[in-house]
Amino acid sequence: LEQTYDVIVIGGGGAGLSAAVEAQAAGAKVVLLEKMSSLGGNTLVSGGGLNVPGTDQQKALGIEDSVETFIEDTMKGGDNINNKELVTVMAENALSTAKWLVDKIKVEFMSDRLQQFGGHSVPRALIAKGNHGTDLIQKLKAYGDDLGVVFKMETKAEELIVDDNNRVVGVKATNTAGQEIIFNANKGVIIASGGFGANLDMRKEYNPEIDEKYKTTDVAGTTGDGIVMAENIGADLMHMEYIQTYPTCNPKTGIISYVANSRFDGAILLNQEGNRFVEEMDRRDVISKAILNQTNRESYLVWGQEVEQVGNMTELHKDEYNNLEKLDLIYKADTIEELAEHFNIDVNSFKATIEKYNKYAKNGKDEDFNRRGSFLPIEKGPFYIQKVAPAVHHTMGGIVVNKEAKVLDKEGNIIPGLFAAGEVTGGIHGTNRLGGNAVTDVVVFGRIAGENVVK
Ligand code: ADP
Repeated sequence: LEQTYDVIVIGGGGAGLSAAVEAQAAGAKVVLLEKMSSLGGNTLVSGGGLNVPGTDQQKALGIEDSVETFIEDTMKGGDNINNKELVTVMAENALSTAKWLVDKIKVEFMSDRLQQFGGHSVPRALIAKGNHGTDLIQKLKAYGDDLGVVFKMETKAEELIVDDNNRVVGVKATNTAGQEIIFNANKGVIIASGGFGANLDMRKEYNPEIDEKYKTTDVAGTTGDGIVMAENIGADLMHMEYIQTYPTCNPKTGIISYVANSRFDGAILLNQEGNRFVEEMDRRDVISKAILNQTNRESYLVWGQEVEQVGNMTELHKDEYNNLEKLDLIYKADTIEELAEHFNIDVNSFKATIEKYNKYAKNGKDEDFNRRGSFLPIEKGPFYIQKVAPAVHHTMGGIVVNKEAKVLDKEGNIIPGLFAAGEVTGGIHGTNRLGGNAVTDVVVFGRIAGENVVK
């Protein structure tokens, strides 16, 4: 079996879909290969948050922001080892990309809400309708259908095909029947197959610490295939050891908890002994490590109506809430004492911690951990307590690319015909990706790859 297109895109998450629609819109005939039976990847299960400086939402809320501040925050969050050229491209293109998503793709963002994830100096994340990636993926797919992009599901890219001049000219793939299909590419191949968070062996190979004690938030398809395929034909890799854990996941499944994002609205983290142990707005790696040092390697998130009213997380994520309740991972009660008793936490120290915190909130100064961002008391019931634990969430490392999304070899030369975008690439997030930066990264660089492959 053999088929010929102008452009082959490997992977149907946010990066692959953005690349495919841009290449097709520029006049190319595009095929997108997705190994799973549905599109979306980790982008689909994300919170649909996208950092963008200078939006109407920021203006309406009186928030001052700039491309420069966004770059600074991102660099600092990645311990300044990020590829600054890529960070700059992401930051400079964020606003036009958000406009493209709204005007062209018809993605709907909440008009009156922004989120401030850890490490950002101001609230700058647009939140897609429903606070998940569904709208983004469905609308990109619909736009791709209108344009005539060919989607091949359950088709797994196995190998890149290279000609005598070391130019990438196609992809060897297999379908679920085990048949091999050769896809020839007249113009080029874009790898957008995501990270390797769901590949335990690969995680341990690059960072032995991130072993089976961590579950993962990632979808099953993120096994690093594209990284291996690119490396096999000489592509350079970078930052492979930097693997991010998300601090507040379901301790039983590893699935990310969006109810627990009440943390950004002001919820606090306590341990089994009823004490706080970390600044709730610190970086994901810092909080994750701190939680793993607590009893049972778990933590409790606690909040009341002051916080609930800000983001209505238990309402917005009602399905998740009901599920957590069934698993006895969340509990709602009218008094603080009941929360502590439910999870066998020492009532007196639990109460003392919350009373002390409420005093800090009133004085506007957290004397223990210097909390940034939303800083509200926990006085009005009903109250919530949720059990959370860290899980592998994002792999910062991957294929080395330049700002045109072209893949580089170990000598820094461009590998002709090969592009990569999204989580499969390395360098943009340094040691640690900030919340809301993945979707900005994948859509900005997916589009850049799609534009450049047809040039
Ligand atoms: P990004 O955010 O970079 O777009 P995602 O995780 O959202 O990454 O999407 C990556 C997609 O690539 C997933 O849907 C995954 O199933 C798909 N994928 C991974 N490996 C392959 C492969 N070998 N062939 C085809 N699709 C793949």
